[in-house]
Amino acid sequence: MQTITRLDPLRSALEPLRRDGPIALVPTMGALHEGHLTLVREAKARAAHVVASIFVNPRQFGANEDLDAYPRQLARDQALLETEGVSLLWAPEAAAMYPLGYATNISVSGVSDGLCGAARPGHFDGVATVVCKLFNQVQPDLALFGEKDWQQLAVIRAMARDLDLTRPHVDAILGVPTVREADGLAMSSRNAYLSSEQRAQAASLPQAMKAAIWAMNRGEPVGDALRELEEILLAGGFDKIDYAEVRDPALLTLVEDPVHQAARLFVAARIGGTRLIDNMAISPL
Ligand code: AMP
Repeated sequence: MQTITRLDPLRSALEPLRRDGPIALVPTMGALHEGHLTLVREAKARAAHVVASIFVNPRQFGANEDLDAYPRQLARDQALLETEGVSLLWAPEAAAMYPLGYATNISVSGVSDGLCGAARPGHFDGVATVVCKLFNQVQPDLALFGEKDWQQLAVIRAMARDLDLTRPHVDAILGVPTVREADGLAMSSRNAYLSSEQRAQAASLPQAMKAAIWAMNRGEPVGDALRELEEILLAGGFDKIDYAEVRDPALLTLVEDPVHQAARLFVAARIGGTRLIDNMAISPL
């Protein structure tokens, strides 16, 4: 596996790979876990070559967020990607991505507005901008993203559609179901911030979400189920709930009565200084 940090060598290295067949891109911020590696395996099953990227994108972190603390472990990540058969790792320096004078921002309205978009102003502009650049740099036939970041997936799909980044009628942006720990907690690089006590408490997030979904499927009003969910999380060690909402899976509009339509439960909650997110389908009975 080659690791490349500058754009010109990236373009030269991609040329021969492209001749072998489709290229799949797996964008990440590193500190890789089984969730990331599942995306790589899905990519490998669908393409001749997998290109992974590792870039801790400063533009998607708010001023008081964890950009400096975000875990960076390039050597370990390289070894993991090599073992998975990744052909090329694109690991640009921030200055290669945003050189002096960089001035362009991509902003997707609508699907970016609520949930993490409301809780983290500017976050999805940063995501859309960097993913657009990654698509232009690598020009993949296929790109894979995790459903763990469901809203991010919706933002990227909208951007790719609106800016003609992918061929129409081809499902070039693939969502991969969330990979979880044995106790149900969604894998995340940020789980490494949790103390062992917090890690045990964090398992109440997926458990409380499942209980809320069960209650809604039994006919409990959405508002009541969400209030109970928040109470369980606060009693279980979470310090603050950023949001707990039921939304349409595609449009991300608020849903009042999930029993009569496909809907999804979205939660973001903080435990100590760590912010965890999760989402699950609500399948009506
Ligand atoms: P990140 O490094 O957190 O930016 O994530 C890189 C990609 O991996 C994104 O598409 C995420 O949605 C995806 N991802 C992160 N955690 C998981 C997980 N637990 N299961 C599936 N995909 C994940």
